[in-house]
Amino acid sequence: MRLRNVPGSRELIADSRFTIKNETEYRGKWNTVFGNDHPLHIEIGMGKGQFIMTLAEKNPDINYVGIEKYSSVLVRAIEKQEEMNLPNLFFIRMEAENIAEVFDQGEVERIYLNFSDPWPKDRHAKRRLTSMQFLERYEQILKKEGHVIFKTDNRELFDFSLEQAMASSHWKIFNHTFDLHQSEYVEGNVMTEYETKFVEKGNAICRMEIGQKET
Ligand code: SAH
Repeated sequence: MRLRNVPGSRELIADSRFTIKNETEYRGKWNTVFGNDHPLHIEIGMGKGQFIMTLAEKNPDINYVGIEKYSSVLVRAIEKQEEMNLPNLFFIRMEAENIAEVFDQGEVERIYLNFSDPWPKDRHAKRRLTSMQFLERYEQILKKEGHVIFKTDNRELFDFSLEQAMASSHWKIFNHTFDLHQSEYVEGNVMTEYETKFVEKGNAICRMEIGQKET
């Protein structure tokens, strides 16, 4: 994502009632943030938030947490949420590497990754949100029957992601497609900002859904 410094964005994030500041304090207690025991779905790298806000609006019985490391994009989501006031949606500005300090074992039912940064250099592979290092973090927070759903137009990153899941003894691939918009999985698909842009350009969108093997 190209970044602009948005003046005042850090302050706006700090002041917003929709951002969680001391996020590690809620580990194991996210139900208290929402005031109910609904399932918890998170999106890592939510950018300006179109995807997660559409889902939160459509599914009032699911709790959503959007995670984004850059305030300059997160601030756009907060502005929208200030208008929409969705009670089932909060944001955290954080680096996803620390995700297991924020959610407890089995606390998260679904993780969405949309158009994650490709980190094309081999030496940066562990920073990719679908690397085995990240899959291990997801194992620490995901319910046994929980899913990770990943979309990208980047075929190299997608192939890498399939390989990482297949190489792991913990994960299995439930389904995948190299062209989401021509596949059965397009039903109910919610577009992200990046997806809209790439579909307009004619790029095929890849999607995979993975989960943990039963042990
Ligand atoms: N999901 C949005 C944005 C995609 S760009 C969409 O599909 O339109 C990828 C986003 O992920 C960027 O905003 C980037 O800042 C964020 N991101 C990448 N790595 C991250 C990490 N390790 N922790 C938190 N956010 C991350």
